Amino acid sequence: MERYDVAIIGTGPAGLEAAITSKVRNKSVLLIGGKGSSDKVSKAHTIQNYLGLPDVSGEDMAKAFLDHAKSMGVEITEDKVNAVYSMGQYFAIQCHGNDYEASTVIVAAGMTAMKPFPGEMENLGRGVSYCATCDAALYKGKTAIILAYSAEDEPEAEFLAERADKVFYLPQYEYSGTLGGNIDVQLDVKPESIEMKDNQAVLNTGSGIYAADGIFILREQIAPSQLVPGLEMDGNHIKVDRSMATNIKGLFACGDITGAPYQYIKAAGEGNVAALSAVSYLNNFKKN
Ligand SMILES: Cc1cc2nc3c(=O)[nH]c(=O)nc-3n(C[C@H](O)[C@H](O)[C@H](O)COP(=O)(O)OP(=O)(O)OC[C@H]3O[C@@H](n4cnc5c(N)ncnc54)[C@H](O)[C@@H]3O)c2cc1C
Repeated sequence: MERYDVAIIGTGPAGLEAAITSKVRNKSVLLIGGKGSSDKVSKAHTIQNYLGLPDVSGEDMAKAFLDHAKSMGVEITEDKVNAVYSMGQYFAIQCHGNDYEASTVIVAAGMTAMKPFPGEMENLGRGVSYCATCDAALYKGKTAIILAYSAEDEPEAEFLAERADKVFYLPQYEYSGTLGGNIDVQLDVKPESIEMKDNQAVLNTGSGIYAADGIFILREQIAPSQLVPGLEMDGNHIKVDRSMATNIKGLFACGDITGAPYQYIKAAGEGNVAALSAVSYLNNFKKN
């Protein structure tokens, strides 16, 4: 498997700038995220405080960022990172579509107002999971519940349903899909809490109880402490020093995920610092 110098999670301003700076420093780059930058960029109305782009629409700013990255040879690998594991000399990066390896990792995954459901964290890995495609093989002849937050999760449900006996699909977005067969789509179900009872994962909702062998929660974002086991947090943010280094050697973070102020230019600036720190880490690593 190819081992990249720098893997970057997130294609907002922090991740794109980190990728551009890493490229300028001649490092091999794996940039994982959405092809169209982040929604927080592309869906913003008018931005007045980004240097060099006065009164720009979010759509135009996203285009400027992506064009710049493309012109530098930065490619986006469209995928969602499920977990990052420090293996000592390198990092193993588990995504929904593939697994990767990199010598350093920069987390630029933005902030989410996500609050876990009561019982979610306690039962993570013991009935609750964030990646249906990763765990599908374990569901042969079993039942599962999927809490889905985007139409992009529908292929993931189909993949799981090829193995599982039955899948309850609970869309938390405006559903207009065509899922069928052994996928039971239940609309307007509001999840409240999760618990394990008699070896079954139980989802309590405003309209009744669902029980199955496992519950998959397919939110766009995963809490950083779940994304990278052992990561030191400062409240909801990843704790970093001025070089954007975290408590895990070789792992850096930048942008909204490291704390307020939540601003494009701050995110991009931190992306630049994180990349330079990753480069200097790589250079020192090679010397030792
Ligand atoms: C409506 C709106 C207007 C705003 N207006 C302004 C403004 O005028 N000026 C200003 O300075 N700031 C503004 N902001 C704030 C600005 O959007 C953020 O500060 C900035 O986008 C943060 O950049 P980021 O790269 O850290 O994170 P984000 O832009 O949030 O990008 C993070 C990306 O990582 C992706 N990601 C997350 N988890 C994973 C994973 N596991 N695997 C792969 N990818 C993942 C996300 O999907 C997202 O695309 C505005 C925000 C909003 C919502």
